[in-house]
Amino acid sequence: MATSEEEKRKEIARRYREKNRDRIRQKERERYHSNLEESRKKARSRTKKWYDNNQEEIREKAREKYHEDIEKSREESRKRYAKNPEKYRETQNKRNALHRDEINKRSREKRKNDPKVKEREAKYRKIYTEKNKEFLKERQKSPEYKKTRISRQREVKLEVFTEYSKRLSKSKKPCCNCCGENSHVEFLTIDHIEGRENLSTEEKDLKGKKLYYWLKNNSFPDGYQVLCWNCNSAKGLFGKCPHLSSK
Ligand SMILES: [Zn+2]
Ligand SMILES: [Zn+2]
Repeated sequence: MATSEEEKRKEIARRYREKNRDRIRQKERERYHSNLEESRKKARSRTKKWYDNNQEEIREKAREKYHEDIEKSREESRKRYAKNPEKYRETQNKRNALHRDEINKRSREKRKNDPKVKEREAKYRKIYTEKNKEFLKERQKSPEYKKTRISRQREVKLEVFTEYSKRLSKSKKPCCNCCGENSHVEFLTIDHIEGRENLSTEEKDLKGKKLYYWLKNNSFPDGYQVLCWNCNSAKGLFGKCPHLSSK
């Protein structure tokens, strides 16, 4: 059989290599050093190729190793970071920009489940704001910052309206939960279903974008709905939208 022939040949080659290991290594070393520049280049590209082909496996191994002794690993990465903070910060910023939503979700969950984390973050934020007062003031004035802030606010608003419309009106598009108005999100607002009186003090003072952020950060609690301005004012003035009495 061809395979057993092949196996035989392989076996012979293996034995030969084993017997002459030192001599082969010596030869390889000589070849490597005869054109060091070229050899190094080749070795580098081989390593890179190997890394590219085994990325998942390598990452998994690294993760395992990191968690074997987490305190030690943390200490080591702290040391690495201290040596070259600029470089690490740049990588982190890139990574954060790429996975912003996922990262925010995870830290929100952590904050919710562990009061210690919440406390620590609040403390850190206070120190940071105090330390960078001038910088933050300047940054808020910059047009780029304003642009990002506004587009982020729009994103959050849309997310909140979409979530409540999906849940209460079974609509993929943000719409009024009374009359179905859905032509423009500008015609819509968030309504406290049972009125403001029953809300906690924290919620009572929330309006507009602050309310949208709060709803998102609190995983869209019950008790809110999307209404158009018409239905909302009618409900406020007459206790109930006329759409409901004509039904
Ligand atoms: Zn309406
Ligand atoms: Zn209505």
